[in-house]
Amino acid sequence: MFVYVGEGPLDGNEQIFLSMEEAISAIQIDFCHYPPQTQLFVDLSPLILDPDIRIVNDARYNGLWISTPGRRRTSRMRKIAPLDLGRLLIDTLLTSPPPALVMAEICHRTFMTHAAPSDSGPGANAGVWICMDMEGFRCRQCGRCCRELNYRHELSSADYRRWQELGREDILERVATITRNGQIDSYAIWIAPGTRHFLEICPWLMPAPVKNKAARWICSIHDIKPDICREYPGIKKHAMMTGCIGFGK
Ligand code: SF4
Repeated sequence: MFVYVGEGPLDGNEQIFLSMEEAISAIQIDFCHYPPQTQLFVDLSPLILDPDIRIVNDARYNGLWISTPGRRRTSRMRKIAPLDLGRLLIDTLLTSPPPALVMAEICHRTFMTHAAPSDSGPGANAGVWICMDMEGFRCRQCGRCCRELNYRHELSSADYRRWQELGREDILERVATITRNGQIDSYAIWIAPGTRHFLEICPWLMPAPVKNKAARWICSIHDIKPDICREYPGIKKHAMMTGCIGFGK
């Protein structure tokens, strides 16, 4: 088990500070983003739920079981679906956030990286320093993230503004704006110009000149590509969970 005994941020890799609210939100996104992480939910339960609640993950009895709080030894257990356990964990975190030390341990287990508590992060907030664990990453230009991940609704207003300022009509005509009450609320990419239909793959992805047998891809708007593409995979766990090969030999 990871135990942080120092003070202040960790050394040796890029880190980000998450306030307690941001940490809970990041954990929630992690829970929703990937297939149900049953063993992770079980491992987090003692840190988040009432200590009287027992969670058992037993293949012989076909899955996850949860006891009724307050009757640890005697109560009958009921079956619970992994996603329902995930929801219970998030609801409990939202209603009673743990101390920063415990939150750091929850982040460590969830994001599979070093996490250190802090009572005085940016803005003097309590929260957690998260190590991004990206040492050794090198993009192999396999194009998998561009071709297979769903980022259709992840464009930011900063991306859109950047292309407006650069006068990149060729890019803007492939973006659909979604309005609410007359204001742009969000965006959708990439669409066939003049339609509201999504293109099958990113129109800026081009095959690179082949140097060896492995196919490689390049982004033809690399310098001004959307932040969501620029920041991928962000953290090692995300790379592992989405099939990125950037940590391979
Ligand atoms: S999946 Fe990983 S290695 Fe492949 S192009 Fe995307 S970032 Fe690079």
